[in-house]
Order: sequence, then C-alpha cells, then structure tokens
Amino acid sequence: MINFTVGPVQSCDAVREIGSEQVPYFRTPEFSSVMLENEKLMKQFIKADDAARVVFMTGSGTASMEASIINTLDENDKVLVINGGSFGERFAEICKIHKLDHTEIKLPLGKKLTADDLCPFEGKGYTALLVNIHETSTGVHYDEKLLSDFCKRNGIFFIVDAISSFLADDFNMAESGADIVITGSQKALACPPGISVIVLSEKALGRVFEKDSGCMYLDLKSALKNGERGQTPFTPAVSILLQINARLKEIEENGGVESETAKIRELAEDFRSRIADMPFEIVSESMSNAVTPLHPLNTSAYKIFTTLKDEYGIWVCPNGGEMADKIFRVGHIGALTKDDNTTLINALKDMQSRGLL
Ligand SMILES: *Cc1c(COP(=O)(O)O)cnc(C)c1O
Repeated sequence: MINFTVGPVQSCDAVREIGSEQVPYFRTPEFSSVMLENEKLMKQFIKADDAARVVFMTGSGTASMEASIINTLDENDKVLVINGGSFGERFAEICKIHKLDHTEIKLPLGKKLTADDLCPFEGKGYTALLVNIHETSTGVHYDEKLLSDFCKRNGIFFIVDAISSFLADDFNMAESGADIVITGSQKALACPPGISVIVLSEKALGRVFEKDSGCMYLDLKSALKNGERGQTPFTPAVSILLQINARLKEIEENGGVESETAKIRELAEDFRSRIADMPFEIVSESMSNAVTPLHPLNTSAYKIFTTLKDEYGIWVCPNGGEMADKIFRVGHIGALTKDDNTTLINALKDMQSRGLL
C-alpha cells in the first residue's frame, strides 16, 4: 500500500528500524538526554523564544488539545473558538465539557477566515482564542498574521493547534505571539501515533503554574517539572520518543525546518499541477501544503477512496459525515516522493479510462 492520508503517514527507514527494536528502560541519563534534545529541536523548528518549554504527552493530538485548555483556561476566561470543521468542533466540545464560557466563529466548509469574521469580537473582553491553524477536515489553512494581530491587539491568550501544519507550512511561534502551539507524532513528524507535543510560551507557563488543572494524567505542572531533567511523570511511549528524536535529527541534517517545508510544498504543488485537467474541484479557499481536498465532479468521493484502496493499493483520506460523498483528501506529508505522486496520478487516470471518475 502507498499511504496518502493525513495520518498516520509513512515513516522513513530510520524511524521504522527503531520500531523493530526492544523498548529500552527509560529512567536513565541516556533517555533524559534524548528528551532534552527533542525539546531543543522542537523549540528550534517551531521558532519559539528561549524561555519556552516543551511537553511530550503520551496520547494523540486530542490529549494535548484538552491538556492545553484545562491547564491554562478557567471560569474567568471568555474564549473564542474558530470552528470551520471537525477539529474546530472538537475544541468547542472540550470547552463545553469543561464548562468554559465560549463563543464559536462558525465558518462555512472550505471558507477561509477574514478580518470581517473577527471584527464583531474586537474589544469585547475575550481573553483566549483557540484555532486549528490548518483545519485538516476541509484543508483550509487560516491566516496566521490576521489571527496573531487580532490576539496582540486585544491582549488575547493565543492557543494554536498546528498538529497537521507543523513542518508542512511556515510558522513562527515567537513572531506570531502564540502562547501555546500543539503538534502530534503521526502527521508531518511521520512517526507512529501516540505522542503529542505542547510548546508553551513564558506567559503560558505562568498560567499553568497559577492554575489547578483538576486532572492528574494531563497535568502540565508535573510534566514540566519532570521535563527539566528530561523525564516524564508516567511511563511514556518510549519508542515513539526515540523515533521522534531520529526524525528531528534527520530534518536538522537535511537543512532544517525550511528544507522540510519546501519538500512538502514541492510535493503538493507537483500533485496539484498534475490533476489540473481532471474532473475535480479543489474545495479549500486557502490550502495548507499538507493536504489537497478534492471534490469529484462526477462520482462519490467515498467510492474513489474504496476503489483506490481495494483495486490499486493506495490509501487516500476519506471524509466523514455530510462530507463523505463530496470530499476526499490527498496528503503530502510522510515519506513520499514524486514517484509516489506518479503512481497515484496513473491510478486516477486508469479509473478515468474505466469510466469511474
Ligand atoms: C490530526 C489532528 C488532530 C489530532 O487528532 P488525534 O486523532 O487525536 O491525533 C487535531 N487537530 C488537527 C487539526 C489534526 O489534523
């Protein structure tokens, strides 16, 4: 199978080899130094301030979304949630479960966020904003500068889920003034699922240490304290942390975050140019390099997903709910090449010649 989904994605050989080894004991100086190196490289790649800290949570991306919220927000906050799809919906749901005063800015599917959408919330006493900078369900990449300026102007605590955008799109945590940035192991980090990463600004650290999270496993105070010596409060997904280390070092050796982003952008542009004359409509107004969301003009999107899987050995990413028949997505993250793009294009052309597109 070739995997063009948006996670879990294909891993490089070095990462896969670590997965085949015995899991080492982790309360050791050797493992601590791996963790401290992971923190240093994450800060470097996300362009965080020196004072920022990084927590590696054992749990998928959603664990870090929830941890970020319960450790920094409370009943005194008035929260804005950008909701343009299923991941925005997830942020709203977490706010609801934890009884936070929140307002959703609901965007129609595929639409980008504009200054007009934010205007009614200017100067209204909002204290925090939650955004999935790339709403992976629809493939819309929001304007980082627009959100960053809005948050700075209004003194708003800025939480960014960059889970599917980290490494795929340019992002500068310090410049954007983001207080929390979240990513996960199974997107462009191209490791197995199971670890998510929270980068916290100095201001975010202040909030964490002032507040009671009301949770043991997702408490960031103990994670941060243990992290000072490269350790974790509980048994982490040790192998994935070693795989993340190999992957971060690989990116560093290949020229750093800019080269990695350029590689993903090039794959996305190659694919997009080669489907230009095929019966698809691109449904997002503003795309991330991580994924191309496609609306097939003549057939069901879900049928394309099953045919590619069952007859061509290719996974693309289906959509759920009301989007299932309308949209499927082609990912450009993970260990993929232009030759893999060719394989997918040839399969689509073959389907077209069989009258299946
Ligand atoms: C993948 C993803 C998540 C995390 O989902 P998990 O299944 O919990 O890993 C969160 N937000 C966005 C934008 C994502 O793409």
